Amino acid sequence: MATTSCDVAIVGAGLGGCFLALLLGRRGQRVVVIEQGPSIPSAGADFLKPPGLRVLARHGLADFVGRHGLRRDLIRYYHDGDPIQECRFPDGGFLIRPYQELVELIYTCCAMEGVEFCFDASIDDITMGEDRVEELALSNGQRLRAGVVIGADGTKSAVRRALAIEQRTMPYERLLMRVATVPLTASIAQLNRLYFSSEGWLAYFYPINAEQARVFVGLPPEDDKEIFQDGIPALLDELKKFVTDSSDAFDSLQPAAWQRIKVSSLRVEAYHKGNAALLGSAAFACHPMTGMGMSYTLHDAEILADVICAAGGDDELLDRLLSARYEPRREAHRALIDYGDALAATFRDRDAYLAAFRADLHIYGDAAAPAAWAAPR
Ligand SMILES: Cc1cc2nc3c(=O)[nH]c(=O)nc-3n(C[C@H](O)[C@H](O)[C@H](O)COP(=O)(O)OP(=O)(O)OC[C@H]3O[C@@H](n4cnc5c(N)ncnc54)[C@H](O)[C@@H]3O)c2cc1C
Repeated sequence: MATTSCDVAIVGAGLGGCFLALLLGRRGQRVVVIEQGPSIPSAGADFLKPPGLRVLARHGLADFVGRHGLRRDLIRYYHDGDPIQECRFPDGGFLIRPYQELVELIYTCCAMEGVEFCFDASIDDITMGEDRVEELALSNGQRLRAGVVIGADGTKSAVRRALAIEQRTMPYERLLMRVATVPLTASIAQLNRLYFSSEGWLAYFYPINAEQARVFVGLPPEDDKEIFQDGIPALLDELKKFVTDSSDAFDSLQPAAWQRIKVSSLRVEAYHKGNAALLGSAAFACHPMTGMGMSYTLHDAEILADVICAAGGDDELLDRLLSARYEPRREAHRALIDYGDALAATFRDRDAYLAAFRADLHIYGDAAAPAAWAAPR
């Protein structure tokens, strides 16, 4: 098969890859997105927080994406059954929209900008020159030469491997996560409730649309076999110990299909090498309790789009701009990962959790809060 060329090749059609493709396509870049799956991926993310909504607003997408999503402005936290704090989100709150739906909306916008998508095509080989990616060999036989290559290909990134960038993955070993989609109940429709127990359990109840809700359960790994593999009745006995204001959901939990989710943090030593850069979960992963991964990824894509366009095909300038404007994002990501680690390490202990909880990071991440905002407690 012939070798084709483009300005930017993006590996991975998740939120980061699709959003960057859209921004670049709008600015006249020839973009090819390579996705190993048959369609846009699904993932556990449901919440888009204020910083991410503001990125979308800057690009005229906030109304389009928010139109059929749910808006929420309050999360109530409980410890051993008692409410311990509320987190109130000002300025329209946050958006609940299942990940695949959100990314599909951005994907449909890409089509209008001439972005080319290759589904069912993964990376077979990456030819490296001196500190730069020369060519990508795809599993469908195609060969692709690109001025810039973006690894938006998730935590196991093939691009990161080819660049020989070191990474450190830390599984949250003390907290095994399960999720189920269940019918919406009155208590879940009322507000988002997140329960913690001093025995190392958590349970999070929230709606995803007018009929359905999501329930996340986190538990010590040693409890998982008994609860989820030898029959579900023990689940309710455990939840009844610390879930107080969501008991109307209990009946729907038993027949639900409980999907197991692996959660790890990921830190990498550099975000670019020559003409290639990492984006989204290929670059960093934090505990989902922060609810911020997508917001940071959207902002990172904005920076990458600016840098790529400013470099205008000049490799040396691209390298310099990535060093100056993109690499510093590692510092913001590090703070977010540390924050997620602190939440995961303390939630069993009420006082330690409250001391670790940072409303500013939780609501605004590293973006500046509006001046009128006062920290909720
Ligand atoms: C349980 C859970 C809950 C979360 N909840 C939230 C939340 O509520 N709010 C929030 O902001 N963030 C949340 N996050 C984080 C959020 O999911 C990530 O920040 C976001 O998905 C990053 O998007 P991405 O584009 O990097 O990658 P991904 O969505 O991981 O997409 C990577 C894509 O690359 C493709 N790919 C991989 N390898 C190859 C290859 N070799 N060739 C071609 N394609 C390839 C994959 O198929 C996939 O489509 C959560 C994360 C988890 C684990």
